[in-house]
This record gives sequence, structure tokens and C-alpha cells, in this order.
Amino acid sequence: MDFAFATPTASQATAERAAPPGPWSPPALRLVCLDIDDTLIDFTSAGSRALAELIGRADMWSLWERITDEHVAKVVAGDLAYADMHLTRSRCFLAELGAEMDTGDVVGFEARRRELLRRSWRLFDDVLPCLDWLNAAGVQLAAVTNASGGHQRAKLADLGLARFFDHVAIAGEMGTAKPDPVMFHTVCLTMGCDPSEAAHVGDKLDTDAIGARDAGLGGVWLNRRAVTEDVPTGVHEIDSLAELPELLICEFASVGVPIQR
Ligand SMILES: [Mg+2]
Repeated sequence: MDFAFATPTASQATAERAAPPGPWSPPALRLVCLDIDDTLIDFTSAGSRALAELIGRADMWSLWERITDEHVAKVVAGDLAYADMHLTRSRCFLAELGAEMDTGDVVGFEARRRELLRRSWRLFDDVLPCLDWLNAAGVQLAAVTNASGGHQRAKLADLGLARFFDHVAIAGEMGTAKPDPVMFHTVCLTMGCDPSEAAHVGDKLDTDAIGARDAGLGGVWLNRRAVTEDVPTGVHEIDSLAELPELLICEFASVGVPIQR
């Protein structure tokens, strides 16, 4: 499908130039940042299924997530090498379960987990239409993830998403992580835009949406699970990426609206 962009007529452009500045003057939108796990990819379903299959019980996902967050934080802080992170995390998790395993067993556990996981990746249904719209609207796209390593690029490639993105920002490679403003500002600097010209969308209210807002970007919370939560001022909430185009058009000026020729 071909797209063209709506451009103002000469009279509209003249009227806009002549209009006095109003109380609300939205910035142009030049960059949209998207979190990866549980925003684009149904990571929790795949990860929890893989773990349950491996250990024979389905109630340990929250423990796995907590241990993962602790180990990712160590990688970001430079206290743990990324190359060692996965095995160290699995050893720690298995020890918490009371399992005494030698290094060979842990290596086997981790290899099997990753194999199961990679077979389970699924995109949410609203992802491709949204990315198509954003590409047609002419904004730059960056994937911004708190993951610790380059496997996120393989994940995007496996699912056919790599072609949509101008940049992939990975916390473990940058030495900083969301919600630190440094993470968001570094992405904006890389893409050559001011934070006020960018929006970030992610499934975590604190890490993604509030972090982005506090860094001067538009902060959008993708609340896929319809969690009841007070949403602070300046943070936008959507429950599907299908709602993102309308939100961006309303909140930013100069979003190219794709129209069919
Ligand atoms: Mg996420």
C-alpha cells in the first residue's frame, strides 16, 4: 500500500503563521521509542511457560523475575559481565529452589530454557499495524530495552521487526537503564532530536512511562493487563498499541497522517 502525507494548503499555512501563539503549543514528533518485552513481544507468557516446563511447576515466575532484575542491575552497574549473567542467574534461581546442581547441569538448564523460549516468542496482534503506521507517519523508531545483552536484536530479527527500527538501545550495552534519564537522553541524542520531540511507550508504569515523562519525553503506559492504577499527571495510558496513533496525533504537532493515494 502506498502512502502520502497530508500537507497543509496555502491558506491553512498562512492562517497558521498569522495565528497568535496559543496556550498549548505541542512540539513536533520526530522519534517514538518502544520497549520490547511485554510491549511488542509477549515475553511473560513465553518465559513463564518455558520455566514451568523446565521445573515442573508454574508458581516460580515472580521469583525468576526478581532474580533477573537483580542480575541485570549488576550488569548495568558493571559489577557482572554480561557473558556470565545467564548462568549466574540460573544458578542463583536453582539454589533458591534448593536444587544442588553442578556447572554442567546449570549449563544444560540454561540452554534448554533458551531453546524453549525462542520457540515461544509471539508478537502481540496490535504490533505490526502500529509499526506500519509509525513508519508511514515518517517518525524515527527506536527500541529501548532494559535487557542486558544483544539477544534482543536477535529477537527483533526473528520476529521480522528489525526493519522497522532506526536504532536499538540496550541497557546492558550502555551502562544505564530506564528509568534513568540518561538512558532516554542518550537515545534522543543518538537520533538527533530533543526529548520534547520524542515519546516512549512501554508496559511498565514506573520504568517506562514515568521515567520517560521525567526525562522530558512523552510518557505512554501500555496497560495491556488493565491493571487498576493511579496514573500520574503527564503520563498517558493506553491499553493497546491500536490507540497509539490517535494519542500521538492529539498530543504532538506535525505528525504525518498517512492517507491512501
Ligand atoms: Mg517491558
